[in-house]
Amino acid sequence: MKKVIIPTALDSIAKDTLEKHGGYVVIQLPKCDLAQVLRDNPDTHALIVRSEKVDAAMLDSCPGLKVIVRAGAGYNTIDIRHARKNGIDVMNTPGANSNAVAEEVIALLLADARHLVPADASCRAGKWEKSSFMGRELSGKTIGIVGLGHIGQLVAKRLAGFEVKLLGYDPFISADKAQSLGVTLTTLPELFAAADAVTLHLPENDETRGMIGTSLLGAMKPGATLVNCARAGILDEAALRAAKAANPTLRFLNDVYAKDAEGPKSIADVADIMLPHLGASTHESNHKAALLAAQELIDRDDKGITSAVVNRDIPAGLDPAFARLANIVARLCRVLLGEAASPRLVEARIYGELKPFSDWLLTPVAAALAPDYDTSLDRRHTLAFLAEKGIDYLDRPVDETKKYTSSFTLDITANTAARTLAKASVRGTVEEGNLLISRINDFDKLYVEPSGPFVAFTYDDRPGVLGRIAATLAEAGHNIEDVRNPHSPSDNTSLALLKLDKPASDELVAKIAALISSRHALHIVF
Ligand code: NAD
Repeated sequence: MKKVIIPTALDSIAKDTLEKHGGYVVIQLPKCDLAQVLRDNPDTHALIVRSEKVDAAMLDSCPGLKVIVRAGAGYNTIDIRHARKNGIDVMNTPGANSNAVAEEVIALLLADARHLVPADASCRAGKWEKSSFMGRELSGKTIGIVGLGHIGQLVAKRLAGFEVKLLGYDPFISADKAQSLGVTLTTLPELFAAADAVTLHLPENDETRGMIGTSLLGAMKPGATLVNCARAGILDEAALRAAKAANPTLRFLNDVYAKDAEGPKSIADVADIMLPHLGASTHESNHKAALLAAQELIDRDDKGITSAVVNRDIPAGLDPAFARLANIVARLCRVLLGEAASPRLVEARIYGELKPFSDWLLTPVAAALAPDYDTSLDRRHTLAFLAEKGIDYLDRPVDETKKYTSSFTLDITANTAARTLAKASVRGTVEEGNLLISRINDFDKLYVEPSGPFVAFTYDDRPGVLGRIAATLAEAGHNIEDVRNPHSPSDNTSLALLKLDKPASDELVAKIAALISSRHALHIVF
């Protein structure tokens, strides 16, 4: 059993999902001294945190720790470099709370433009100061978005309905993507000088810390608004104070602080609206982030899917669907070979756009080959781990003339119980986000989606076999959801591959295998 500690009031769906999956003991402590908890639980496998600080000393005190999942986007509260040094993967759940933050930005802009906070207080106090609260409209204004990632892009989409002109700055976004969002890309100085409102959506890192400083803030128009719902560290507070002194009509709307804690805030004198870091504080985003955190942990532990890891040198663009595909292809090869077979040689062929990710596809393959594999191992250690089990893993050159776009083929040669060699070969691909198995051994062009329970039988080709399989499944109360039945004329074999509504029992598969004299029978739940 792997011990998981959730030292925060995260939505209970994380705990429930891990417990339902099995293999995890989850301790959730909505309020605790995390440093003490880690010292008391040195065998903790994973931590799921929100904005709790995790420093080097805490990491050193917990030698069993393998994973930290940040249920949220920003991970500047975690010492990710020290975590890497200790072999700990840090993962985040980007996107889970993006909509909550994007809506908060719009709430702040509108609340400020229409004086909602002071007007409510005044009206409540029995006053009628209508003329003091003359507002402004968003429509027709120019809004600058700095950082067009998950949140910045959603802000652009949500603002589109207000008929504003959108400017954007993000060196990592393509012009096509910006155009599809209705955003005109520009330089940072031009954006600050032209915008009626600027909203910040950058990560805090060595490059962005203090990035919004004197010259940018000094260039803002009178009456312009700056919104920071990203991270306090990206904004130079002293420069903002000076800019407000020089340009008193500048507005500043803030959600983020150097430290999330009670007590006076240094930014208070320059903030026109300040919130206690409420960006992600919606029921919906808490639920989404908690669920995703649990699913990512399970995928990493069971399948070696590391696409959400932020402290390994993973090349940008690795779609988790491909890591999932590599795991499924390897599992299917294992099932084809049978439980008693011991893999000896694993040959991967990685085609098209997937090629740069060969190192990262090894992890999900190794996870399928060996249940005791530690998915935090890098390529070198993974190869050594497999070699210790007598398995050679090779990335084979591919036949470029085949022009496969992004596909992954695995050939596994294994020793069988009868001390003979057996081979399984499976190819898969991802089309429009859907995983597809395109070939199993000699049966090509299958294009079947590996999800849910399947049964498969190979048999000497002759009429009527598929009908007998279907009738026996129906008698046992199974509904068939999908079928492939290709032939291999070279050895007169057919494959019946059927997707079922629920998993078939060992007895039922054995009964059908005997009935049709199948050469090979298997069942698998993807
Ligand atoms: P993201 O990683 O999806 O997007 C960040 C974007 O910034 C990326 O597109 C990246 O290309 C861009 N970027 C990086 N360095 C840059 C630079 N030097 N100049 C310009 N652009 C640069 O992140 P996200 O999920 O959109 O989060 C954005 C920020 O919001 C983060 O700081 C995160 O911590 C913060 N956040 C705040 C709250 C809150 O409660 N207020 C909640 C969630 C996230």
